[in-house]
Amino acid sequence: MTTNPPADGAITYAVIDLSVIMHNVRALKAHVGGPVEVIAVVKANGYGHGAAEAARAALAGGATRLAVARVDEGVALRQAGLAAPILVMGYAPPDAAPFIVAHNLTATLTTWEAAQAVSAQAEAAGRRAPVHVKVDTGMGRFGLLPEEAAAFVDQVAALPGLDLEGMFTHFAVADEPAEASRAYTRQQFARFTDVLRAVAAAGHRLRVRHCANSAATLFHAETHLDAVRPGIAIYGLRPNAEVAPPVALQPALALQSRVARVRTLPPGSSISYGRTYTTTRPTPVALVPVGYGDGYHRLLSNRGAVLINGQRAPIVGRVCMDQFVVDVTGIPDVKQDDTVVLIGAQGEARITAEEVARWAETINYEVTTSLLPRVKRVYLPPAADDVR
Ligand SMILES: *Cc1c(COP(=O)(O)O)cnc(C)c1O
Repeated sequence: MTTNPPADGAITYAVIDLSVIMHNVRALKAHVGGPVEVIAVVKANGYGHGAAEAARAALAGGATRLAVARVDEGVALRQAGLAAPILVMGYAPPDAAPFIVAHNLTATLTTWEAAQAVSAQAEAAGRRAPVHVKVDTGMGRFGLLPEEAAAFVDQVAALPGLDLEGMFTHFAVADEPAEASRAYTRQQFARFTDVLRAVAAAGHRLRVRHCANSAATLFHAETHLDAVRPGIAIYGLRPNAEVAPPVALQPALALQSRVARVRTLPPGSSISYGRTYTTTRPTPVALVPVGYGDGYHRLLSNRGAVLINGQRAPIVGRVCMDQFVVDVTGIPDVKQDDTVVLIGAQGEARITAEEVARWAETINYEVTTSLLPRVKRVYLPPAADDVR
């Protein structure tokens, strides 16, 4: 279940199984059914999985559109050769308009200045730029308030360089099963559909109305509309660690390394910076060449664990920038260069991103998104007969 290290000297690497991303998207597509489009969210380097690679796998699994947070993320996907529509979901200032138009990105508009800038740029290029309008129905973050949206849509639709294609909103608590949270999501959705109705009554035909993140895709079927916008679920991770999703999702990423040294420390040996751990007996320990310089959080000090030879080895002492130490008491035969699994399965044992997140007092999203460029990405391609 582990993958051999890359043959370029890299010892700490993330293995990303692209067929798993493809299958996750296929499963989500089957779940939403019929004509509902899947917009695969590949912002932040595809939640650490690699944006372009994740995007290709998602498209192979049936996604028809991509979404990122920023203009330069969209440009990078175009430069990697991706031709699908790319929605930039976050703020794009007026001076980003040349990049939006040159790379045929779909901007999210919330200001008149940006709308004018994108329109002017598209007109100059002899085109109409596709745009979406974002409505803030209760996230309190980005987007127009519901009462501002209809008038803004009228203005935007009148600009000659724009093709007002879609409108969207974003949910705050769609992952939470508590009835109060479900009611809040329904209320956000109702505010959104009120705006959609007003916009339609004013004669605007929007083709891509969307609001469902992974959680709403999985747990709020009434919100699917024309398209869903899952991120975390396409990588096989849960939007809420406590709630099993109704769709079989598999994690696509494993984080692996190699034992750099094994030895037995005598009783009374302190380990790592700050001397936060001291052995009380002869203790066999292994050195793991992973640290916060890889995005492996320092909060895992004296808390986390790894798998070696299919067994758990707890972290002892502080996680440093480049390495940490684990106690391998009771694990037979630990040798230098043995595979270490930090996220993923080995034999019967498994450590999930959700478990690492709990140790680090965060969420699975941050665990994979934190993996820094120093962590080599190793891609397992989809099997040829699996791509259709
Ligand atoms: C990140 C993001 C998503 C995807 O959210 P997940 O919880 O990962 O599915 C969808 N929409 C917007 C606006 C986002 O910022």
